Amino acid sequence: MLSPPAHWLPQASLDPLHLDWLKNAGIEVAILRLDQIDPLISGNKWFKLIEHLKAADRVGAAGIISLGGAHSNHLHALAAAGKRFGFRTVGLLRGHPQETATIKDLQAFGMQLHWLGYAGYRARHTAGFWAPWQAQYPDLLAVAEGGGGLQGAKGCKQLKTMVDDQLQDLGWSDHDGWWLACGTGTTLAGLVLAEAGKHPVYGALAVPEDHGVAQQVEAIIEEAGLSDPAYELLDASRGGFARVDPELIGFIEQCEQASGIPLEPLYTGKALLALRQQVEGGKFAPGTRLIFIHTGGLQGRRGFETQS
Ligand SMILES: *Cc1c(COP(=O)(O)O)cnc(C)c1O
Repeated sequence: MLSPPAHWLPQASLDPLHLDWLKNAGIEVAILRLDQIDPLISGNKWFKLIEHLKAADRVGAAGIISLGGAHSNHLHALAAAGKRFGFRTVGLLRGHPQETATIKDLQAFGMQLHWLGYAGYRARHTAGFWAPWQAQYPDLLAVAEGGGGLQGAKGCKQLKTMVDDQLQDLGWSDHDGWWLACGTGTTLAGLVLAEAGKHPVYGALAVPEDHGVAQQVEAIIEEAGLSDPAYELLDASRGGFARVDPELIGFIEQCEQASGIPLEPLYTGKALLALRQQVEGGKFAPGTRLIFIHTGGLQGRRGFETQS
């Protein structure tokens, strides 16, 4: 069995986020701490894996083979889950062998690694890419990069329940929408499906608009057959994925000091900065209550600090 035992229910706390710029605008935000669901497994990537693990169980697979880069949050969550629940994991990596903090963790978690080079990795969408890997690992299920698609989105639907169950503790009878970072838009799509139009989901794009996120979200929603989705995508990429500038770094430091909550610059920091810009631009009326999802990614920050 790859699926976690029934008693393992990851829980993330929903905490009030106290920041001056929110207070000044009369906006209340509660942050869902997916960075803290488990000592080993962190962030939205776990939720994107759930349905894939169930699928692996259905076909009797002994583990999962997937791909990512040398700082990949997806491979990290997968390897951690393999370690935690005792199934085999194989990671196909972009580029040439290097020793990042993430790679060391993957090895410590027992993930078997293969480096594909850059051209080899670019071929991942071509027909026949998986054939040799499936021949080498016939008892493993292949999961596409990032664990996306409708399967990935479905596992994120439970985030709504997690928040609904905690609203009362905050003294909130309801909220006015979700705010989260988007890379592929899979996590956002899961929330849009769970909400079915009830609360809007605002996606702060960590990648430029030409990355096709809007199309991927639409495709998932269409495949699921939802007719009246409520969501909005906003550019939060600041000129490119993983591009970092002094204003962003200063903002993250300020927010960490004021709130005590760690952020990283690729996703959560950019999403929160985009929220500040929208709040200060008057997008939300005073009294608005929003849920900000901390999607994790802190493990990848270690690599970033040594790089920059
Ligand atoms: C992968 C990731 C995202 C983006 O999730 P998608 O489902 O691809 O949109 C956001 N935040 C963090 C920290 C991530 O690792």
